[in-house]
Amino acid sequence: MLSPLNLLRKHGVRPLKRLGQNFLCDPNILEKIVRIAGVCDTDTVVEIGSGIGVLTALLAGCARRVIAIEIDRRLVEVLKAELGGVPNVEIVRGDVLAFDFAAARPEGGLGRVRVVGNVPYNLSGPIVLKLLDARESIDRAVLMLQREVAERLAAVPGTKSYGPLSVYVALYTEARLEARVPASCFVPRPEVESRLIRLDVRREPLCAVDDPSLFRDVVRGCFAKRRKTLLNNLRQSGLPLRPEAVPTVLEELGIDGKRRAETLSVREFASLSNRIGRGQTS
Ligand code: SAH
Repeated sequence: MLSPLNLLRKHGVRPLKRLGQNFLCDPNILEKIVRIAGVCDTDTVVEIGSGIGVLTALLAGCARRVIAIEIDRRLVEVLKAELGGVPNVEIVRGDVLAFDFAAARPEGGLGRVRVVGNVPYNLSGPIVLKLLDARESIDRAVLMLQREVAERLAAVPGTKSYGPLSVYVALYTEARLEARVPASCFVPRPEVESRLIRLDVRREPLCAVDDPSLFRDVVRGCFAKRRKTLLNNLRQSGLPLRPEAVPTVLEELGIDGKRRAETLSVREFASLSNRIGRGQTS
């Protein structure tokens, strides 16, 4: 296969910044992604943002089936021209945020897919949330992200990077940071450094959460103003929790209201959200 630069020239395609088009051109990194994804010949792989198909071609060499999602019509044409003849590659033109992961499950809907992608960085947050929502259909995701975002996803309590996404990711997956990837590994070069992350979906969430949507609201509410205490954030959160009830609820759970959200563990967020969900707090 041609190098990304030559492929772009051959098809007369100019990369669009708006769609986060930075194509990987480093063979070692491409191989590393495939290795971390651990794809074998019984696996179905969903690739997010296949671009010009460099990673797609490698994945097709080890997977049973590769579903290549790409939103840009011009690149879909490139993919068809370059990979249209490869029998285990299906090219899907569309938005990954609208993709039905459940419909891609192998073994009559009982198996799980592997997700791989050098994703458009401006959509990292929504893509990660989409994958978490589709977690029952996924066993592992290997993503190339902006370095800070990857580090945020894997961050532990008490660190600057720890935020709402770290909490959601830890509840449902085991996150592992992988190689840092310099801008020189892409054409065109992005303005930021990148990092690979591997997310292994847990068979069971880290702890019981009665109402996932309330859990998200609670986490977001606690982090609303990072410098404020839990007590202050919760009093102004608009959650179904009367401001006067906040100190009692926190005390009942053994959580010091003077702490900041960034020190709370996933379990503490879960107990707080479960307690609020049980009522008599609003
Ligand atoms: N994986 C390729 C391309 C990465 S660039 C490579 O490494 O060479 C990111 C790709 O995601 C681009 O091809 C871009 O067109 C595509 N993309 C952007 N937004 C998308 C969306 N919402 N759904 C699917 N693909 C998208």
